[in-house]
Amino acid sequence: MTKIAFIGLGKMGRPMAANLLKAGHDVIGFDVVSEAMAKHRESGGRTAESAATAAKEAEVIISMLPAGEDVRALYLGPHGLIAALGERRALIIDSSTIDVETARLVAAAAEKAGHEMLDAPVSGGVGGATAGTLTFMVGGSEAGFERAKPLLAAMGSNIVHTGGAGTGQAAKICNNMILGVSMLAVCEAFVLADKLGLAREKLFAVASKSSGQCWSLTSYCPVPGPVPSAPSNRDYEPGFTAALMLKDLRLSQLAAAQSDAPTPLGAHAAMLYQRLAESGLAEKDFSVAFRWLSGQSRSGLVPEQA
Ligand code: NAD
Repeated sequence: MTKIAFIGLGKMGRPMAANLLKAGHDVIGFDVVSEAMAKHRESGGRTAESAATAAKEAEVIISMLPAGEDVRALYLGPHGLIAALGERRALIIDSSTIDVETARLVAAAAEKAGHEMLDAPVSGGVGGATAGTLTFMVGGSEAGFERAKPLLAAMGSNIVHTGGAGTGQAAKICNNMILGVSMLAVCEAFVLADKLGLAREKLFAVASKSSGQCWSLTSYCPVPGPVPSAPSNRDYEPGFTAALMLKDLRLSQLAAAQSDAPTPLGAHAAMLYQRLAESGLAEKDFSVAFRWLSGQSRSGLVPEQA
């Protein structure tokens, strides 16, 4: 049994903490929202009045927060957890999806203070968090990874050590940039097929067995019909929201700008999801791009010379 402080008991954090409890660990939760803490207690966990109090008695700290600024605020500065830990040593695992720069900055501060820190973002969504089948992409030292592995295995089924600090976040945003671009490509193909009088199910029958095959087509098909489990069959209820896709595409573009990586399709995908979100579809599944694109005109989205 490991004593774990779990900070951030939201849509993902709460079921992840519940799986650690099921595996027999002592999980002391903290969230700024009291209802989230009440739900953690209902699952059998303990709660603390602050993140620092939760961390005080823990061997391992796991955080699952919305964004990079939340992670910096939690760990850094005179009131942050690294300062609060004092002489105590802890293994710190941040599973939030955040920018690579923040992940590296916080890991360096933790290491300087004598702690092992891993960036371990996840994919698999709320369904994977509940079922304990998340994929973890883990950046940090080999020794830290080996220590964390049994805990991560209680929450996920695919755990990959991606390299040094920040590479977990790098893997997450590279994967999701592929996903955002490939989903838009599949949506565009169905929009064009509609205009050309090619039946959607015929395009699916061809492309799903040809070189156009990809996850966005065969698992999350953005038109209703061909893949019964896809969000397109239930009015695009998520799934993975367009808001989270936009967040990850923006993170990819921030990293691309900082590292001078040429990612024109990633940049364009971020712009398209921005416009889609502004049209009121942010909380729909990201495959709603098909419906959104179908309602647009070519002139508003494609440069004249193309
Ligand atoms: P969420 O907003 O439901 O949960 C975040 C929780 O953190 C909230 O309960 C909030 O009150 C709490 N919080 C914020 N600041 C805090 C602080 N300083 N101290 C304590 N608690 C604090 O978000 P989520 O959907 O659980 O996502 C968490 C992270 O996981 C995000 O970075 C997201 O991008 C990533 N993620 C989400 C999904 C998904 O499908 N929801 C999938 C993969 C990755």
